[in-house]
Amino acid sequence: MSQQQPLVIDVHGHYTTAPKALEAWRNRQIAGITDASAKPSPSELKISDDELRETIETNQLKLMKERGSDITIFSPRASFMAHHIGDFEVSSTWAAICNELCYRVSKLFPHHFIGAAMLPQSPGVDPRTCIPELERCVKEYGFVGINLNPDPSGGHWTSPPLSDRHWYPIYEKMVEYDIPAMIHVSTSCNACFHTTGAHYLNADTTAFMQCLTSDLFKDFPTLKFLIPHGGGAVPYHWGRFRGLAQEMKKPVLEEHLLKNIFFDTCVYHQPGINLLTEVIPVENILFASEMIGAVRGIDPRTGHYYDDTKRYVQATANLNDAQRYQVFEGNARRVFSRLDTTLKAQGR
Ligand SMILES: [Zn+2]
Repeated sequence: MSQQQPLVIDVHGHYTTAPKALEAWRNRQIAGITDASAKPSPSELKISDDELRETIETNQLKLMKERGSDITIFSPRASFMAHHIGDFEVSSTWAAICNELCYRVSKLFPHHFIGAAMLPQSPGVDPRTCIPELERCVKEYGFVGINLNPDPSGGHWTSPPLSDRHWYPIYEKMVEYDIPAMIHVSTSCNACFHTTGAHYLNADTTAFMQCLTSDLFKDFPTLKFLIPHGGGAVPYHWGRFRGLAQEMKKPVLEEHLLKNIFFDTCVYHQPGINLLTEVIPVENILFASEMIGAVRGIDPRTGHYYDDTKRYVQATANLNDAQRYQVFEGNARRVFSRLDTTLKAQGR
């Protein structure tokens, strides 16, 4: 299998290019929180299939074809989730709209996009309230994963750690459906944390450490978390985490966490990917670019887009062809088992 060209599966993409009508509707929804007369109904948002097609064909799909990636696991724009805005009803309506758009994209381009769900989280609200939307996305929309926000307060960290029983209703559903969660915060409303430069990477590191200090995966041996953005500071500080686990009398990290935690390749330079693939076992690395996302420019030192991560994975000397197959395809099929089922049904 390693001799064939792998299917290149990008496990981390968001609908950052949705038609402007979506943002306009959201702005009216936010205005409606303080002025009920401004509140729009979901049916007032009208976006045609042609508009969806145009935003994908001229953006994500165009770059996928240029760069040679085949499928993107596609979720609503992370920074727009903004779970801190409004109450559960606001989040619930917003999540349903955003998920439906990703579903429609997956129907228009079934060979290139498959959905992952945004949850209608809201600060201080029981995560159990997210289950109906999660069920709809998996059962009706064929989504293969979820994005779980460990901090719906948007940078103030008012929720319990991911190891707390608070989150268990979500985990029970994930295990039942065999879907992974990408641990992904949304926009920061704390001025100390830049959204994509600090808050995202802080959250990645924080999520890993919350798992390390706990015995969460003893309660959920088959639970799967994908920690994005290359795992934040985790791979770079692997020795620190190993040493902390040792002092806490935890098992070695391979036993304690790496049956359940995976990292993506959204690291935007070659030395970063070299480090990731040197430190983290190849079984735990899934290809992703988060394109079109936070970093959209061209690196003047290479002449290529920073987020063209496939180049780095191909160029690193740490991987042989069989290992590259794992990173591009094999690991994604294993971690996102419902994606594998869908691909097989498509004859892929
Ligand atoms: Zn993301």
